[in-house]
Amino acid sequence: MKSHPTLALLTCLTLSACDFSCASIGKAKPPVPRFDENYAYEQILRYEKLGPQIPGSPGSEKTAAMIKAELTQSGALVLEQKTTAKTFDGKTIPVLNLMAQYNPSAQDRILLSAHWDTRPFSDEDPNPKMKHLPVPGVNDGGSGVVVLLGIAKALKLAPPTLGVDLLFLDAEDWGNPSKEESYCLGTQYWAKNPIPEKYTARFGINFDMVGRTGAVFPIESYSAQRAPEVIQKVRSAAHQLGYDDFFPNFRVGFVTDDHVYLMNGRGFPVMDLIHMTEQGRFPPEWHTHLDTSEFISRDVLKVVGQTTLQVLWNE
Ligand SMILES: [Zn+2]
Repeated sequence: MKSHPTLALLTCLTLSACDFSCASIGKAKPPVPRFDENYAYEQILRYEKLGPQIPGSPGSEKTAAMIKAELTQSGALVLEQKTTAKTFDGKTIPVLNLMAQYNPSAQDRILLSAHWDTRPFSDEDPNPKMKHLPVPGVNDGGSGVVVLLGIAKALKLAPPTLGVDLLFLDAEDWGNPSKEESYCLGTQYWAKNPIPEKYTARFGINFDMVGRTGAVFPIESYSAQRAPEVIQKVRSAAHQLGYDDFFPNFRVGFVTDDHVYLMNGRGFPVMDLIHMTEQGRFPPEWHTHLDTSEFISRDVLKVVGQTTLQVLWNE
């Protein structure tokens, strides 16, 4: 093989120029790690295969083991919280909240959360014969999980200087639409009895339905009222990355999601990063038997994951 001495020399020069400028900057921040959307997509297929993730079901147990293994692999300190909760339909269910901590001794922390359970019934299904079936919950459950797992993978390669916590919340979706407090059972418990004890953070972002093809993330109203600074951080990070189209500047209604209980219980601002349409609706597969990987987009997972890493690195 013929060698190319001129090219080799050029490469050396380029490298040494870079070495020099990096050294002279001194305090240059390490680059923002890349969110691996292919990894996130692989994990969502695993999640789908293991599910549904109804609290107390074998699918839930297997998925918990999968999440814990991925988090441990990423070098996090993994904490578990087990309890039970009473559902609106009179069942007592096991609840497992998981937290992965990076840089656990840091006082200054950021919380990223998502629910990891799926809904036991497809009550929004247009087909009455399907309403009793569990929701596969690949978007409503799986997408938030794999965004957090993708962030875990990135943090393994580029440990953050701040403390970062990934919180996987159980029993969000076993609720009755006419009883607001029947949802978010895992979060309601954690927010009153956090692990670690007296937990606090600078701010939080909660992810729900963040993987659907064509998704956009407008401004949810509780977040606008109680976490406007967090919305600003997310919107400006998205702008830096050229993702403005995914974060349209219109406001949708109030969603009582995990972020509300996190704010009520812990007192720091948390925004809900959630897909809603311009009409203020959830995606069409929401709480139906069609919430499968068929509608999941790697690109959307990438947008959400990369924007979040940018937020962390901007702090
Ligand atoms: Zn749901």
